[in-house]
Amino acid sequence: MNFNLCSFIATKVKIVTLATSIFKATYKMKVDQVSKRLQVLAISETLAMAQKSRELRSQGFDIIDLSLGEPDFNTPEHIKEAGVEAIRQNFTHYSPVPGYLDLRQAIVTKMKRDSGLDFTADQVVVSNGAKQSIGNVLLSTVDPGDEVIMPAPYWVSYPEIIKMAEGKAVVVNAGIEQNFKITAGQLEAAITPKTRAFLFSSPSNPTGEIYSRSELSELAAVFEKHPQILIISDEIYECINYDGKHQSITQFEPIRDRVAIINGVSKGYAMTGWRIGYMVGPLWLAIACQKLQGHYTSGASSIAQKASIAGLIGDQSAIKIMVAEFKSRRDLVVKRLSAIPGVRTNNPPGAFYVLPDVTAFIGKSDGQTLIASETDLVLYLLHEAHVAMVSGSAFGAPGCIRISFSTSQENINKAIDRIAGALSRLK
Ligand code: PMP
Ligand code: GLU
Repeated sequence: MNFNLCSFIATKVKIVTLATSIFKATYKMKVDQVSKRLQVLAISETLAMAQKSRELRSQGFDIIDLSLGEPDFNTPEHIKEAGVEAIRQNFTHYSPVPGYLDLRQAIVTKMKRDSGLDFTADQVVVSNGAKQSIGNVLLSTVDPGDEVIMPAPYWVSYPEIIKMAEGKAVVVNAGIEQNFKITAGQLEAAITPKTRAFLFSSPSNPTGEIYSRSELSELAAVFEKHPQILIISDEIYECINYDGKHQSITQFEPIRDRVAIINGVSKGYAMTGWRIGYMVGPLWLAIACQKLQGHYTSGASSIAQKASIAGLIGDQSAIKIMVAEFKSRRDLVVKRLSAIPGVRTNNPPGAFYVLPDVTAFIGKSDGQTLIASETDLVLYLLHEAHVAMVSGSAFGAPGCIRISFSTSQENINKAIDRIAGALSRLK
């Protein structure tokens, strides 16, 4: 065996071992020592896959990471400057639990400017990222056994946060043939006397699909008949929309007083690490979220809050540049994936994800590895193509894989060349 072949085999063994360890890491916890509440939670597969890519890269593997959903752009300069200025001005103390008043007013201004909706600052609660805002709302409203309806594909953390609240996730499936969007009829059929909330994202993670105004209006008409349901509308990808104006279900007057809008600066302003998200909703809910957050994390970072004001009401031109680039990448990724035999892809009008259906490869093998599921396919592609993606199973989308195209067009081309090569070896 010559040296090259030895190192090639060693490399493969290492990658398989590491890839497998992502899923095993969760179970290394001493099960008897952690709470039952934690035992039932799954690890966040988006974060686990991103961590795995970093580890493999640091060991010298040329991994293209299409797993994590975060803009690859840096935070615009004027926002960074506002953060630096906040430090100089000594905004380094505890902030009010729901956020500084000027940030909450900036959010109110933004809601009026972008959606024409009127809110007051006391209806806003700023948190450490939109993820915490979702947690605040669910923990503040869901009692054990309450049902939370969730269209699938859903974002990976939704079912886990519902579990933390001891609620029961009721999944309503929407496949690629219906553009991954549920109908009003499906929603109606899922509602029971125990339904407490409905949780969805539009633009969606993981599909990039957007509910149109008329589709939202049909869903709103169903909610009108069920006044006990709180609608949690995750609009974190609001800015990343390639087709038109953002549509929020909040626009429908009869249900407006029971919509909790979730948003933040992470995606639109390329500020994922600053950790600022917010909830805008009925006053009673804002007070409840504030009470919870007051015992849990207090106010979010003072510096990041001040920087977020510059993002939300400052110069918006950087967003347009980022969105134009995301759109070119969307076009590229869809064109290239559509040319791979066996891959069926959607054409997402928003966010930076595409969710191709890869069921055609399930049951196939390259002669060594049998692909029994979409998770096996993700591991095979990590192993064979050195491209990291996330299994659809993490998002309630069996048969699919999620690709985040928040990387350069050069990387996208290189990744899809490698994916196409590895898939062509599956017979
Ligand atoms: N909702 C969705 C749909 C997301 O994709 C994310 C990803 N980060 C979040 C919420 C959480 O955002 P944040 O980084 O602000 O916590
Ligand atoms: N929301 C992003 C994603 O889905 C970031 C990771 C996370 O917060 O789960 O990839």
